[in-house]
Amino acid sequence: MKQKIELIMSMILMLFLPISSGYAMEITEDEPSVEAAISEGQYIVMTKEEFKNWLFRQNITRKIMLIQQHHTWAPAYKHFKGSNHLNMLKGMENFHVKEMGWKNIAQNLTTFPDGKVAVSRPLNIAPDGTIGPRANSAGIAIENVGNFDKGYDVMTKEQRDTIVYITALLCIKFGLTPSVDTITYHHWWDLKTKERVLDKGPDYNVKTCPGTNFFGGNSTKSAKENFYPLVAQKIDELLAEMKKGSKS
Ligand SMILES: [Zn+2]
Repeated sequence: MKQKIELIMSMILMLFLPISSGYAMEITEDEPSVEAAISEGQYIVMTKEEFKNWLFRQNITRKIMLIQQHHTWAPAYKHFKGSNHLNMLKGMENFHVKEMGWKNIAQNLTTFPDGKVAVSRPLNIAPDGTIGPRANSAGIAIENVGNFDKGYDVMTKEQRDTIVYITALLCIKFGLTPSVDTITYHHWWDLKTKERVLDKGPDYNVKTCPGTNFFGGNSTKSAKENFYPLVAQKIDELLAEMKKGSKS
């Protein structure tokens, strides 16, 4: 009987876990606000810390189960001049609307070589893109500005830190644990069938995106060895920080 009650209690606790961790995310006053961010229309360009505060204030009403990693390929590092974030975003929007026939810029979030992150297509609207509807319907698409194929742009430390940081934040916000089922690479999706093929896609039917040198490679093995551990470690760090913040 006692065991049964304990089991029921732990099940109830599990039900409330996302809510209680949400409580721990209350923003404390000494953290940076988003007031310093640059914004125009739907675009908000922020530091990763500003993005953290912004994200936890958002009420996301659609179900998010998949975080997508992409690289822009073009524009690439040579097009980034240090302060032209908005221009680059508008250029991508223009291309996505006029050339691809999508309703808006495809991606929800964009990261830049200087480590800034921009809210792009609103998070409450599913992304677009050649990855296909299966990946997009419950997805958040992150476009990382650069060409991260081997021999091209070498990712800056700032952008690297931001990609890990915002992916960890999204995992916390949406209750996701890093794995091939929750953080996906465009390379793992067949361009014709729009199904997930992981490492089995023939080269002529999959993109290299997010790049053959994205955190060391674009295979599932590389993601498991080089990317997910960094995200998992960052999730732990952020949760510890938030716990501390909520107690003070
Ligand atoms: Zn892609």
